[in-house]
Amino acid sequence: MPSGRVHEAINLCVLGLGSAGYLALKGSFDLEDPTALAFVASYCVGTFLITPDLDLAERSVRAKGRWGLLGWLWVPYGLMFSHRGLSHTWFIGPLTRLAYLLLLGAALLWVGDGLLRYLGISLNLQGRIAVPPGEILWAMALGYYVSQWLHLVADGMWPDLPRRSRR
Ligand SMILES: [Zn+2]
Repeated sequence: MPSGRVHEAINLCVLGLGSAGYLALKGSFDLEDPTALAFVASYCVGTFLITPDLDLAERSVRAKGRWGLLGWLWVPYGLMFSHRGLSHTWFIGPLTRLAYLLLLGAALLWVGDGLLRYLGISLNLQGRIAVPPGEILWAMALGYYVSQWLHLVADGMWPDLPRRSRR
């Protein structure tokens, strides 16, 4: 089983090779730099901050440590998902982490908003949160998913093969 450090090294090597290829081929296909940057940023988030091994967040795991003081926010996720279970599937697995973050963010916003209201402060966020254009969103989704898939491949998990026995 590769450690968190090995997973990060593998992902960074692939990113390095991919970036070299991208720069070498640039010009021969039409891809805007912001799109490529969105891909890389999202890929790095998936490599360092939001990894499949957060299903172990009830213990100490490298990605959880990278969240610093906020690492405990992942403990419920670790308790909910068994190691290398649903969290380590190809399509649903990465979605479970995004959904978890979204729910957490919504809950924090709700609590924060309630608190501010209680204090008589009103934050008008409407119209201030801009949604990036579609191609940026796709690049972000792809970057995140590719980083997760590399992790799964390094763990020996392929989409079509029957799941290996869990630890
Ligand atoms: Zn893993």
